[in-house]
Amino acid sequence: MISATSFRIGGMLVGYHRLCPRKAWWSLRGIWMEQESDTVALGRLLDQAAYARADKHLQVEAEAPDGTPLIGKIDRANLREGVLHETKKGRSCEDAHRWQLRFYLWLLHRNGVARTDGAPFLGQLDYPLLRRTETVTLEAEHLAELERTVAAVRQLATQQTPPPVLTKRSFCKKCAFEELCYG
Ligand code: SF4
Repeated sequence: MISATSFRIGGMLVGYHRLCPRKAWWSLRGIWMEQESDTVALGRLLDQAAYARADKHLQVEAEAPDGTPLIGKIDRANLREGVLHETKKGRSCEDAHRWQLRFYLWLLHRNGVARTDGAPFLGQLDYPLLRRTETVTLEAEHLAELERTVAAVRQLATQQTPPPVLTKRSFCKKCAFEELCYG
């Protein structure tokens, strides 16, 4: 079981849970494969290379409505324009990317932080290798889904056995945990 004192849910874990609860379960236990670390490191490199003069990394903490501590380590935040950026190398997990970014927007929302004109912050997914961006917003219907995801991740933390493998094995081929799941 994960220690209650050290338990904080972050955006990457939320994204993992959207992709595959089993992937989140491995990560909750500190199992972090080299390929995953490489992907994160590459994302940082892309971020620094493509947006060297842009605004800085930002860390935000908040509490979910059920009291769960939340943390967001945001790639870049343009506070003047009210935009949070998340840099990714490819779009194969774009739904998870959107939820990771919505999670960060939620943390600002939970802290009552808005743009200077009172409008909510926006998110922007940046895919520099694809020369593409996507705007992500936090809508009322996303709030309940984020709460459900946090509750599901909390439940995973107490679960002794991992959730089942994905039925769509094609995604697993890109996952660093494939050997652990099918080896
Ligand atoms: S290999 Fe497939 S089932 Fe296993 S953690 Fe990765 S995505 Fe999930």
